[in-house]
Amino acid sequence: MTTATIEVKRTTHSRLKEVDFNNLGFGNHISDHMLIANYKKGEWHQPQIMPFGEILMTPAILSLHYGQSVFEGMKAFKNNNGEISIFRPQLHHQRLLKSLARMCMPAISEELFIESLCALIATDIDWVPATEGSALYLRPVIFATESKLGVKISDEYKFVVLSSPVGPYFAKPVRVKVEDTYVRAAEGSTGFAKCAGNYGGAFYPTQLAKEQGFDQVLWTDARDHKYIDESGAMNVMFVLDGKLVTPQLTSSILDGVTRNSLLALAKDMGMPTEERKISVAELKEGFEKGTLTEAFGVGTAAVVSTIAIINIAGKDYSLPADSNSSFQQRVKKKLHDIRMGNEPDTHNWNFNVPLK
Ligand SMILES: *Cc1c(COP(=O)(O)O)cnc(C)c1O
Repeated sequence: MTTATIEVKRTTHSRLKEVDFNNLGFGNHISDHMLIANYKKGEWHQPQIMPFGEILMTPAILSLHYGQSVFEGMKAFKNNNGEISIFRPQLHHQRLLKSLARMCMPAISEELFIESLCALIATDIDWVPATEGSALYLRPVIFATESKLGVKISDEYKFVVLSSPVGPYFAKPVRVKVEDTYVRAAEGSTGFAKCAGNYGGAFYPTQLAKEQGFDQVLWTDARDHKYIDESGAMNVMFVLDGKLVTPQLTSSILDGVTRNSLLALAKDMGMPTEERKISVAELKEGFEKGTLTEAFGVGTAAVVSTIAIINIAGKDYSLPADSNSSFQQRVKKKLHDIRMGNEPDTHNWNFNVPLK
C-alpha cells in the first residue's frame, strides 16, 4: 500500500477559518479530516480518509464494555525549510504494538501506520501550524467494534487517526503529591500499555489531589508506595547530585518516547544519566540535603513540565526556581532545535512526510 492508494473524500465545509492559530491550546480543534481503517475477518482493510465527524456504531461495541481500546500521541512539525516531519513514528509504532498485544488486539504494520499518518497530514496540510512552538498533534486510536454483549475478545476493530493543531505549552510549574493510597497500575498489569482504562482509573485519585490544591499525583509502586513510577500521564525525571535520574522501566510504567529522547540527548550533552529505582525516601533526603535540584514531567504534549513542589506524606517540599540555564530548559531547547532543523538530526528522529 502507498499513500497514493488511500482514497480521500474531501470535506466541502472546511473549518480551518474558524481556528485562531495564535491561540490554539491543546486538543481544542480537530482537523477537517480523519482516517479510518476497519479490521474484519482477520485482516486490516484499506484505510479511507473522510471528513471528521460522527460515525455510526451500536452501543454494544465491545470496547465500550470491556475496554479494548489503545491509542498513541505524537507530533508533526513544520521546520524552517517548510518541510513537515513526524517525530519518531517508528518508535511510537513499536509501543503501539506492545499496547495492542497486551489488550489482545490485532497488530498494525509499520507501513499501514506510517502511510496513514502521512496521508492524513498531506490531506490536512493547511492545518499544520507554522508558528514557533506549535505542532500538529496526531492521535491514532484503535478500538473494538464488534457488537456483542458476551465478554470476549473482539473480532472487529477500527483504526482511526485524528489530528489537531496545538500551540506552545506555557504550563506554569506544577505542584504534585506523592500518591500513597491509590495506584495507577501494578506490576503485571497494563501500566506499560497506552490503553484507555489506565486513564479512566487515574481520574478519581487525580481529582482528589486537585481538590487538595495539587495539579497532579506522583504515582508510586502499587505494592509498597515506596518507589516513584510516573507523574500524571507523563514520565518523571529528576536532577539529583548533578545527574539525570529517572525510574527504570517496569510493566507499570509507560515507555515514553520523550523520556527515551531526553535520555539520549542528556548523553549527547555529557550529562550523566541513571535509570533506576527512586524511592520517596531518597527524594526527601535530596530535598533536605539540597542535592535534588530539578524535577519535571516529560511527554509529547508539554515536552517538559516543571515541578515546583512535591508533597510527601502531607508536607510540601519546594524545588529551586527553574531558569533558562537549568538542565530541563537546555534539553528542551535542544530537542526543539532538532525538530526545527536548527541542529543536525544525528539520531534520525525526524520522519519526513512526503508531499506532492
Ligand atoms: C503517553 C504517556 C507518557 C508519555 O509518553 P510520550 O511518548 O513521551 O508522549 C507517559 N506516561 C503515560 C501514562 C502516558 O500515557
